[in-house]
Amino acid sequence: MEKNLMPLLFIGHGSPMNAIEDNEFTKNFVRVAKEIERPKAIVCISAHWFTNGTKVTAMEKPKTIHDFFGFPQELYHIDYPANGDIELANEIKNLFSPVSVELNNDWGLDHGTWSILRHMYPDADIPVVQISIDYNEHTQYHFDLSKKLSSLRSKGILIIGSGNIVHNLGKIDFKNIETSDYGYDWAKSAQNNVDASIVSGDFNFLIDYKKDGNDLNMAIPTPEHFLPLIYILGLKEENEKIEFFNNVLVGGSISMTSLKIS
Ligand code: ZN
Repeated sequence: MEKNLMPLLFIGHGSPMNAIEDNEFTKNFVRVAKEIERPKAIVCISAHWFTNGTKVTAMEKPKTIHDFFGFPQELYHIDYPANGDIELANEIKNLFSPVSVELNNDWGLDHGTWSILRHMYPDADIPVVQISIDYNEHTQYHFDLSKKLSSLRSKGILIIGSGNIVHNLGKIDFKNIETSDYGYDWAKSAQNNVDASIVSGDFNFLIDYKKDGNDLNMAIPTPEHFLPLIYILGLKEENEKIEFFNNVLVGGSISMTSLKIS
């Protein structure tokens, strides 16, 4: 039987400033949302919820978390008042079983989620649930775990991974932060290698990215911004197409590369 699956998105969220800017990246966030059937709910795996064990937000009204420092006041005043979805949180807990999942009431929506959703769904009228990333586990574990969410796609639920593929904050070249598609050679090489394995479907290369050596290790010094991509690729069905957008580097060491899989 034909399955009517919601697309999958990996969004390179970049700087929190993208939340309040209208730029080439955010225009594509808006465009992509318009291309997708209106979701019944959104599940977001955010780089900014990297936890001991797996947690799922399970409150009626998740708060907007301003989890960054040194940005303009305007950014701290943003509220993204989407509802949660307790039933969906429970369903995710059941799908992940026997992996134990905490139904969480402390977190909310961090900027990995709201900085993109306020462009995509500015009315905040679609319920949102966040899933955390267990920092104790390896890349293969996350790839396999994500597959347990696949049934949600046929229920009108949009699954988004929010991170950045190349993400080395320590190496950002602030002098060139406004230079269009500015990347260090190692960052370009790492992004090209990642793109090639996404296109060829060789996800094992990505799961074993640490073995590739210097470029990918420079690009991914810590895994939290990379793993949301792994969740999205884990959910891709055999015959689905991948569309790249925002495939540029910023400040030398951050890639905005984003994917729509459908
Ligand atoms: Zn981030």
